[in-house]
Amino acid sequence: MKTCSKCHEVKPLDEFHAHPKKAEGRDHRCKPCTKEERAALRQQNLALFRARELQPYHDRRA
Ligand SMILES: [Zn+2]
Repeated sequence: MKTCSKCHEVKPLDEFHAHPKKAEGRDHRCKPCTKEERAALRQQNLALFRARELQPYHDRRA
């Protein structure tokens, strides 16, 4: 069992994505929280993308 760092619920390891780079081998957030965060990030990226779309072409080169 492991406590999610986001919702602070104690859940079985199955509820956490495997994370080979972490010492524990598991993500510190449970699957539903990871999913939520991904959706939020997607929204942010979408907003960023749209903001960039509004810039004139010559300003878009990164
Ligand atoms: Zn969680």
